[in-house]
Amino acid sequence: APVELPIHEAVLGRAAEYGDRPALIDGLDGTVVSYAELDRLSRRIAAGLAASGVRKGDVLALHSPNTVLFPAVFHAASRCGAAVTTVHPLATEGEFTKQLQDSGARWIVTVSALLDTARTAAQQTGGVAEILVCDRAAGHRSVLDLAACTGPEPSVTLDPAHDLAVLPYSSGTTGTPKGVMLTHRSIATNLAQLAPLVSNGPDDRVLAVLPFFHIYGLTALMNAPLRNGATVVVLPRFDLKQFLATIEQHRITAVYVAPPIVLALAKHPLVADYDLSSLRYLVSAAAPLDAELAAACSRRLGLPPVLQAYGMTELSPGTHCVPLDTPNPPPGAVGKLIPNTEMRLVSLETGEDVGPGESGEILIRGPQVMKGYLGRPAETDAMIDPEGWLHTGDIGRTDGGWLHVVDRVKELIKYKGYQIAPADLEALLLGHDAIADAAVIGVRDEDGNEVPKAFVVRQRGARLSEDEVIAYVAGQVAPYKKVRRVEFLASVPRATTGKILRRELRARERSSTPR
Ligand code: ATP
Ligand code: MG
Repeated sequence: APVELPIHEAVLGRAAEYGDRPALIDGLDGTVVSYAELDRLSRRIAAGLAASGVRKGDVLALHSPNTVLFPAVFHAASRCGAAVTTVHPLATEGEFTKQLQDSGARWIVTVSALLDTARTAAQQTGGVAEILVCDRAAGHRSVLDLAACTGPEPSVTLDPAHDLAVLPYSSGTTGTPKGVMLTHRSIATNLAQLAPLVSNGPDDRVLAVLPFFHIYGLTALMNAPLRNGATVVVLPRFDLKQFLATIEQHRITAVYVAPPIVLALAKHPLVADYDLSSLRYLVSAAAPLDAELAAACSRRLGLPPVLQAYGMTELSPGTHCVPLDTPNPPPGAVGKLIPNTEMRLVSLETGEDVGPGESGEILIRGPQVMKGYLGRPAETDAMIDPEGWLHTGDIGRTDGGWLHVVDRVKELIKYKGYQIAPADLEALLLGHDAIADAAVIGVRDEDGNEVPKAFVVRQRGARLSEDEVIAYVAGQVAPYKKVRRVEFLASVPRATTGKILRRELRARERSSTPR
């Protein structure tokens, strides 16, 4: 059944009971925030925000890398009845301005290092009442000053089914970022639905390296562990060495990552220098993960199979996961459908349900489906049909109840009536010893056909020619799937969540192709 609680109650409801246990540890400077302190901070900051004028229905922009104070501010806003719109800490002034305008945010909480960007964006927007920082910046009001406030805690009554808790902006991998309206009910319910995967207990230490501003980090790395009494060790960004050293130092038990980190763990020589024996499991989500790469990673680390999950911002975010206790999940499966959720796979051509084992677009119905895109009824109607089915734009197939995600509909390369999933070719390329990373997009050949082009990053010191790459792939796929163009790059452009930014590769392609 749906969880009818405001998110701060769903997550921090038991924080006081956990008392002195560490809720958050700063992986860089060792600062510890206990559960009692997290509970106190979220209440006191809420009182301070209310005294400053934050009201139910307001939108507060949280613009910060991962820090130990992020969850306190997030839940303080929720206690005031304000929705949090999370802002990418590396957003440009222009991007931040657009998000402020689109979301109507009246409050900004940032960190001193990003204060200039926040100020400029606020000036360009006009409607921002106050900017606060999360740390101590000379001469600027901090949420820590608010926490000293002695006023009353706000008493607001929320309607979890309708009031917004989070307003994340879709990451913009494929289009313009849109505000995704997620209610308290949808995110609190999704936490409960994902419990088979994220039910860490008080003895777990979870490493939070993926960003809290993205729905995956917000759920799996922040709210789920805090709801369960686990300890979250926080890092502001991914750096392999620091990541490995933190696992060793803090005896991390669980890591939630995206495929590029699985790739590094499977292939990078540095990994051998660290004691990672405290790890019990590794979860990957957010982008396609090749089964062989996953197997190589877990073999190397001596871990059970990598557990996958699938979701999207518009789904609060999860619909499928491999439950923690599954001994042998089918290789490559992203998981089983979670409780109280319906799925259909429909043919792209006919819109009819596909037969067993066939692939089709993934449609989802359930309490985790977003309320809609803020201020965009047409885009909302294009995503959610009148029967309440959300059209994910992803292609999947099932095999005995397990879902496999093929790729996004929009990324499929259409070559002479065939369809080629870039993710399949990328997985093949990553299997080559001399290839460190790879991305594939469709480009036009001389005859106007769309053909696969591979962008390849060589392993350091490795020799590899374009012809060798083409021949390597041709030796393993049906002729229509052959890679027909190759370009070597220093790195594949990726979002902080690990997703390949194919639009950047396309832009690069357009600017280098003579017309
Ligand atoms: P935008 O919608 O703004 O273009 P985005 O779709 O990348 O950006 P997210 O909501 O962060 O934004 O990502 C959801 C997408 O990530 C899914 O639609 C799917 O394509 C992909 N994805 C998530 N989990 C998996 C997984 N386990 N395997 C394959 N793909 C996944
Ligand atoms: Mg999307």
